[in-house]
Amino acid sequence: MTRLSTPVLSSRPALSRCVRTLAAVAALVPLLAQAQTAELNIYSARHYQTDEALYANFTKATGIKVNRLDGKEDELVERLRNEGARSPADILITVDAARLEVADSLGLFQPVQSKLLDSRVPASLRTPTWFSFSTRARVIVYNKSALKAEQVQNYEDLAAPALKGQVCVRSGSHPYNLSLGAAVIAHDGEAKAESWVRGLVANFARSPKGGDTDQIRAVAAGECGVTISNTYYLVRLMRSTKADDVAAMKAVGIVWPNQKTWGTHINISGAGVLKHAPHKEAAVKFLEYLASDQAQGYFADGNNEWPVVASAAVVNKELDSLGRFKPDTLPVGELARNAALAQKVYDRAGWK
Ligand code: FE
Repeated sequence: MTRLSTPVLSSRPALSRCVRTLAAVAALVPLLAQAQTAELNIYSARHYQTDEALYANFTKATGIKVNRLDGKEDELVERLRNEGARSPADILITVDAARLEVADSLGLFQPVQSKLLDSRVPASLRTPTWFSFSTRARVIVYNKSALKAEQVQNYEDLAAPALKGQVCVRSGSHPYNLSLGAAVIAHDGEAKAESWVRGLVANFARSPKGGDTDQIRAVAAGECGVTISNTYYLVRLMRSTKADDVAAMKAVGIVWPNQKTWGTHINISGAGVLKHAPHKEAAVKFLEYLASDQAQGYFADGNNEWPVVASAAVVNKELDSLGRFKPDTLPVGELARNAALAQKVYDRAGWK
């Protein structure tokens, strides 16, 4: 596997010189055609060790060489917009339904028809253009000496006046919170969602700053009583042997929110085939490979997430120790479409 980088992408004059030379040698033309089809260019916002094995195994199984460009989600989307029809990229892999929806609404993906994907990825976890390959849940984390679990059973509970000064949470503009807001809007309605956000903001212990892990640490340290976090950050801390992390995880309790109502909000890692993909066939093959039992193991476990394919088994003791829960069954595509509205609601209610 090679890493795509700016020099590779900008080396077109050199490439076209090379193409001209090859074209002059008639006997080599079929070889060139073969070389062109046996490649796949992936733009990835995932940066996990186990993804290396994922790509290597795909090449081993199919003979298709994988070139990868790693980047931050927003940068990759911006790059794809700028490259337009000249983009060499075949696939975009990223996390969070709200982000995939942004890419989709910009027209970056093309529809994919695959019986295999339809049979392996549950209907609620795919759209006509992009597919989920792992799931994570957004849960409530509280300080066990400051609060009781009964006080924080639902996302809605975090707006209760009794929790004044107790809530730490990352920015409302972050896709993780926008997707959560989208779910709250879908289930409770826009007006109720807005008053929930107002109550939540009124309970802030501090202005939103940092990522989910920073909030967990703040809760553990008693700076605040409760937060909302994605499960894989918790599992990462559970798997850590550092004394601080061990102590932090002892201080906090984890709640599966909304078990008696609409279920815990789940989000996804996903991918789609790009509109101008030069290697569409290989791109669809890659998505199908991601739905194989083996790839599901690497893909999900690499970030302590759950596979989307029921038959894919992952052995992850800490992840398993979180137990089972009732997930929200709202289709991710529907959820993602509410993310822009969630941003408006957050803006009105002051969750910056
Ligand atoms: Fe994350």
